[in-house]
Amino acid sequence: SLTDRFDGIFTRLRGKGRLSEADVDEALREIRLALLQADVNLRVVRDFVTRVRDQLVGADLSASLTPGQQVVKVVHDELRAILGGEALRITFAPRPPTVILLAGLQGAGKTTTAGKLAAWFRKQGRQPLLVGADLQRPAAVEQLRILGAEAGVPVFSEASDPVTVASRGLDEARRLGKDVLIVDTAGRLSIDAELMDEVRRVSEVTDPHYTFLVIDAMTGQDAVSTAEAFHKTLALDGVIITKIDGDARGGAALSVKEVVGRPIVFASTGEKQSDFDLFHPDRMADRILGMGDVLSLIEKAEAVVDQAEAERAMSRLQEGSFTLEDFLEQMQQLKKMGPLSGLVGMIPGLPKEIRNAEVDDDAMKPIEAIIHSMTPEERRNPGIINGSRRSRIARGSGTTTAEVNGLLDRFKQMQSYMKGLSNLPGIGRRMSKAT
Ligand code: GDP
Ligand code: MG
Repeated sequence: SLTDRFDGIFTRLRGKGRLSEADVDEALREIRLALLQADVNLRVVRDFVTRVRDQLVGADLSASLTPGQQVVKVVHDELRAILGGEALRITFAPRPPTVILLAGLQGAGKTTTAGKLAAWFRKQGRQPLLVGADLQRPAAVEQLRILGAEAGVPVFSEASDPVTVASRGLDEARRLGKDVLIVDTAGRLSIDAELMDEVRRVSEVTDPHYTFLVIDAMTGQDAVSTAEAFHKTLALDGVIITKIDGDARGGAALSVKEVVGRPIVFASTGEKQSDFDLFHPDRMADRILGMGDVLSLIEKAEAVVDQAEAERAMSRLQEGSFTLEDFLEQMQQLKKMGPLSGLVGMIPGLPKEIRNAEVDDDAMKPIEAIIHSMTPEERRNPGIINGSRRSRIARGSGTTTAEVNGLLDRFKQMQSYMKGLSNLPGIGRRMSKAT
């Protein structure tokens, strides 16, 4: 994945005291390749590499950063820029309802997203109404009704035509005093004139405040042409990217904003209604760079975990004095947050096999068992774990010495990584603010 590729590039740079021009060229070549293999649009890649090169060449290397860190920082900032800079904020129409139209190809995740949006707005204290304007498949409205019920949001639909349903839905929202109207529309397997005409007419009668294109992250390059076609017809306000839980490459997210000029507003990371949130470009950039989405993780943790404990863990992370005991404790806290799949990508230093695999709690078990088999002293000070201790721990936890070594290596990497991270100007500041 892109994260793995960047991991490799930065690991090689990190050891260097000074960067020669050849080092920079080599790194840029690899970055370019990594982006192309991640299915990022060629034009976007070219611009990206040029901007990174310009900054590195012109940069006066700051004394507080190693050259390797400097490259990480420039790449991070540029990634964040092409992902859209700051997160977009939804504002509400002075005269309700605020109308949101969802468009996209079949299977992109529109209906699922409509339900997630409804639940998201409910959490903001809003009173949405869902409109089922996909009358292509009889099951589509039923699917929306089930999702609406789950979100505690009513669904309006009727057996007429999509344009009438949408327009009557708007009347209904006004009548019921709803403040958000979410319109789910039909998709086709590929862009065609009929689809475009239908969705354009639905848009005309509802006059949406926000028109969002729902894009499946796994469609890679195709996402860009889809987005361009919809943008021409509908004047998109933004993009909702779905299935980033399944996207090993990430190219769609990196290309769409740059090519269409509209930000990614929400991201969907799984099939459950809670697997959904505003899209944070800086966090996505962190993730792609393999820093782990520390901020999202901390936020989620704080919602569940005792605030003071989270703060202690955070400051230990920053000091680099985070121990295996803390690591275990954090993992146990994570369990309280429900199924791990959505969280796994956010945990810094988590083994790649786990990060990229279908994860359930079972995958965590060996890690837990290994840490449990250590003495408290070993957990605090893994440096003392010599060969014989390793085999004792492996025996005790029902794992192999290789697995124990693997965990210790990754933990060490994570520790030094976190130390480096908190020294980076922008990131260090953000992390302190989060505590
Ligand atoms: P629509 O045709 O655009 O309305 O797409 P649907 O909302 O019916 O979704 C198509 C499939 O994708 C369904 O099986 C959804 O459960 C699934 N899906 C939607 N969003 C996500 C997501 O973020 N992650 C995963 N893993 N699956 C998703
Ligand atoms: Mg649908």
